[in-house]
Amino acid sequence: MSESIYAELRERISSLKSKGVTPGLAVVLVGDDPASEVYVRMKGKKCEELGMHSVTVAMPGDATQADLLKKIGELNGDGSIHGFLVQLPLPPHIDEKTVINAIDPKKDVDCFHPVNVGKMLIGEPEFLPATPAGVQQMLVRSGVETKGKHVVVVGRSNIVGKPMAAMMMQKGDGADSTVTVVHSRTRDLPSVTRLADILIVAMGKANFVTADMVKEGAVVIDVGTNRVDDPGSPKGSKLVGDVDFEVVKGKASAISPVPGGVGPMTICMLMANAVSAAERAAGTR
Ligand code: NDP
Repeated sequence: MSESIYAELRERISSLKSKGVTPGLAVVLVGDDPASEVYVRMKGKKCEELGMHSVTVAMPGDATQADLLKKIGELNGDGSIHGFLVQLPLPPHIDEKTVINAIDPKKDVDCFHPVNVGKMLIGEPEFLPATPAGVQQMLVRSGVETKGKHVVVVGRSNIVGKPMAAMMMQKGDGADSTVTVVHSRTRDLPSVTRLADILIVAMGKANFVTADMVKEGAVVIDVGTNRVDDPGSPKGSKLVGDVDFEVVKGKASAISPVPGGVGPMTICMLMANAVSAAERAAGTR
């Protein structure tokens, strides 16, 4: 699925390059969290594959907030970098909100800055946050009708659940849905998830959603990424989603796998945001 989007991006990148602009994406990593290191490497590799300018800024785990804000200031002013992000989570001595607020909204490819969140909410997005945008593209490109459909989003985080719900309730293609958001305080969660024509799950709870929580024929999108023990595998662990894939697949009309579903789409939409930022900077968008 992401391949067709990458093909479109390659054309946009080549058009920018013909005008002398190479889209540039920087990723700032503070500390040595292994999962974050993997994500950052994947992003850098994808940039290079696409022929984009890729910069990884690795800062030690004891870097101060002032060090990080200084680096952000430099990236804000760097004309070769059209978009950048600071990989989360940050070490506890650094305030995430202060860091996100310091990013120039025009370069905020994660779409975490309050200005960009607000623009997205009122239906005038500069960027769309990568994970919900990836989910929406999966629906659109799989030909799933969303108009008038009941979408239930499980989870209300600022990164996934809230923007996902906000996007699906907008007017237009790939949206126009009736949206319900459920979370850990919701009473009788299965009675709500069973109402979903499209169930989008972003909880961070391995295999939580079982067949009895899903309506026959529903479309199920699993955002969850959980590492669980797997004594049979060489690594001793494996990635699973929030949905119990094997039992739910018999009931759903379509279901996204973990790994291989939303994850690759997220990286793809991040690249799309960087290309859009470069196009805006070049005045071609
Ligand atoms: P958060 O932990 O920030 O949010 C989890 C949400 O799930 C919260 O709103 C929480 O409710 C809700 N929740 C937790 N337990 C329950 C429960 N028992 N019943 C109902 N609701 C519950 O996680 P994220 O949104 O950041 O991420 C969710 C998952 O998606 C994770 O597995 C993460 O790794 C994955 N992810 C995957 C990405 C990808 O590219 N594939 C990108 C981003 C995330 P409450 O608010 O009440 O606490």
